Amino acid sequence: MYLKSIEVQGFKSFANKIVFDFHNGITGIVGPNGSGKSNVADAVRWVLGEQRVKQLRGGSMQDVIFAGTENRRPLSYAYVAITLDNGDHQLPIDYEEVTVSRRLYRSGESEYLINGAACRLKDINELFYDTGIGKEGYSIIGQGQIDRILSSRPEESRELFDEATGIVKFKRRKNTAQKKLEDEKQNILRINDILAELE
Ligand code: ATP
Repeated sequence: MYLKSIEVQGFKSFANKIVFDFHNGITGIVGPNGSGKSNVADAVRWVLGEQRVKQLRGGSMQDVIFAGTENRRPLSYAYVAITLDNGDHQLPIDYEEVTVSRRLYRSGESEYLINGAACRLKDINELFYDTGIGKEGYSIIGQGQIDRILSSRPEESRELFDEATGIVKFKRRKNTAQKKLEDEKQNILRINDILAELE
């Protein structure tokens, strides 16, 4: 699996539609300070479901929408799509190519899509469990993040190893199953109470 392209439109400094195509090997993005290099990494984090505005270096989620310049009016929505080659089927989906996209309007309305079909944020999170690519993954290392990882608490470092070894999805499933079990226990208690009252 590898990242084939990133499409941005109305996202941060990218007012016009731009497509970054990536090929085999290493790609470097260079440019003067403030030209938007980090905005490219922010776009990938955002489309993968980043909800923490601080991680996106903004004050509110609407700050990712192109805010306008002296010569250009602000735009009404931000759109990002990333396309991954899934030839090795590392992503658990029956497609050779997977495009994940996210759109946010100034009104707050937003949508996520996987290969053009509307989906929930949860579906995107699940698609990327244990791949290192999700918004919490280690595929995107931001400025200052290496220091944070090296000085993180053991429990935080553990999360990184869990993701790398591929056990995150099992842990989440276990948590969901435990929650269901707990709910069922409460239901049984309630039914027993009702039965006792009827007897
Ligand atoms: P450096 O090399 O200093 O780290 P950089 O190339 O990584 O810089 P970014 O931090 O990606 O640059 O981009 C910052 C630019 O993005 C600033 O000029 C800022 O005005 C612009 N920008 C951020 N959000 C928006 C927005 N919503 N609308 C328009 N421009 C924006």
